[in-house]
Amino acid sequence: MDCIFCKIIKGDIPSTKIAETERTYAFADLAPQAKVHALVVPKQHFANVAEVAQADPSLLAEMVSVAQDIAKTTYNGQYRLVFNSGEDAGQTVFHAHAHVLTGQKLEGE
Ligand code: 5GP
Ligand code: ZN
Repeated sequence: MDCIFCKIIKGDIPSTKIAETERTYAFADLAPQAKVHALVVPKQHFANVAEVAQADPSLLAEMVSVAQDIAKTTYNGQYRLVFNSGEDAGQTVFHAHAHVLTGQKLEGE
C-alpha cells in the first residue's frame, strides 16, 4: 500500500522520532503548528481514528497515553489532541494519526 506514514514507520522515509511504544510511533510533524507538534500513529495501518476505535479501543487509549507522555516530557503536561477524520475535516494522510500540540500556551480553538 502506498501510505506515507507506513513508510515512515518502516524507516523508508526519515522522520524525527519523539516516542515509540510496541504498537505506536510518534514523530515530529513536517509543518509544525505549535512549538511541539507530534503525530502519534498506530504501527498497524488504519485509515482514520474511527477505524482504530472500532478495531481496538485499547490501541486508541495507548495513542492518548503517548500524547500525554509527550506533553509531560516536552512541556507541563498540557496539550491539545486533534484527530482529523475524513477529507471534509482536513484529513490529508489516510493513516490514523493524533496531532499533539504542546510546548506553549495555545490560542483559541
Ligand atoms: P492531516 O491533515 O491528515 O490531519 O495531517 C497530516 C499531517 O502530516 C500534516 O500536519 C502534515 O504536515 C504531516 N505530514 C505530511 N507528510 C509528512 C511527512 O512526510 N513527514 C512528516 N513528519 N509529516 C508529514
Ligand atoms: Zn499506513
